[in-house]
Amino acid sequence: MSAWNYFVQEDTVPLYAYSDMDLVLNVADQYVLTPYVYPSSWPEEGALRQIITLLVVTNLGAAVLYLGLGWLSYQFIFDHNLMKHPQFLKNQVRREIKYAMTSLPIISIPTVALFFFEVRGYSKLYDNVEESTMGWPFLLFSMISFLLFTDGCIYWIHRFLHHKRIYKHFHKPHHVWKIPTPFASHAFHPLDGFLQGLPYHIYPFLFPLHKVLYLALYIFVNIWTVSIHDGDYRVPGPLQEVVNGAAHHTDHHLFFDVNYGQYFTLWDRIGGSYRNPSVLEGNGPLDCIRRLMAEGKISSSEDNADTNGYANSGTKSKEQ
Ligand SMILES: [Zn+2]
Ligand SMILES: [Zn+2]
Repeated sequence: MSAWNYFVQEDTVPLYAYSDMDLVLNVADQYVLTPYVYPSSWPEEGALRQIITLLVVTNLGAAVLYLGLGWLSYQFIFDHNLMKHPQFLKNQVRREIKYAMTSLPIISIPTVALFFFEVRGYSKLYDNVEESTMGWPFLLFSMISFLLFTDGCIYWIHRFLHHKRIYKHFHKPHHVWKIPTPFASHAFHPLDGFLQGLPYHIYPFLFPLHKVLYLALYIFVNIWTVSIHDGDYRVPGPLQEVVNGAAHHTDHHLFFDVNYGQYFTLWDRIGGSYRNPSVLEGNGPLDCIRRLMAEGKISSSEDNADTNGYANSGTKSKEQ
């Protein structure tokens, strides 16, 4: 008996015939695409129609999530003083957005291929809580297992991307931003972005997962990715040891070969790459800015003049 059959009652295994439409596709078809967009001669189950719709929906969704969450975070969470940091680049925000918005449509192509297989019923996504013999508790289990699985995979993919033969071709663009803003969160080379997102897409092919939970986790993952770039270094005390937050990820951008993790510090501790965040040791980017202000080397006013002229920030970074 496969794990899937164990978790899903035999008589309610969703068949291709009525489970071939994913949630978002269903809603888009029902309310917009079938009545207003596609000709009636083009059936909802048509492969080409599904691929076109998935491409449009995926690109729109990615742009809305990235720009929406990025903007909210930039306006209300990101400390704009960070833009005075000597390693903050000229026009950085504009460059981050431009890079991400160029990459996201390319990333969407292989991503849509995976979504298409999900929609066609090859994944272990299910529609109703009752379909799982373990019911509601299984959703909680799925949540934890999804986070642990993707965290471990992303750690090793990320470390692989730092391999000296790979790094400069694919991962370097994300490390251009030494002091990232929330808009750096999705600013990856397309292959880098796709590989780091791959564990999220592989999970529902390996393990049963409720469709609504999958969608919620997908949104959560985007929020988290923005949040580790938002310059808000606070993490509740007891969680500082366990959770990989903006404080940890800032050191990844600054010191390059530490804190590769996504949600947890677990794999960095196992893999020997954990570094206690410099922010928590009073030596983070904001401390550096305060020092430079006190020394009169940067202005304390709100304007963010060209800060590229400062050679030494006091936070040594490892350039590769
Ligand atoms: Zn990296
Ligand atoms: Zn980053």
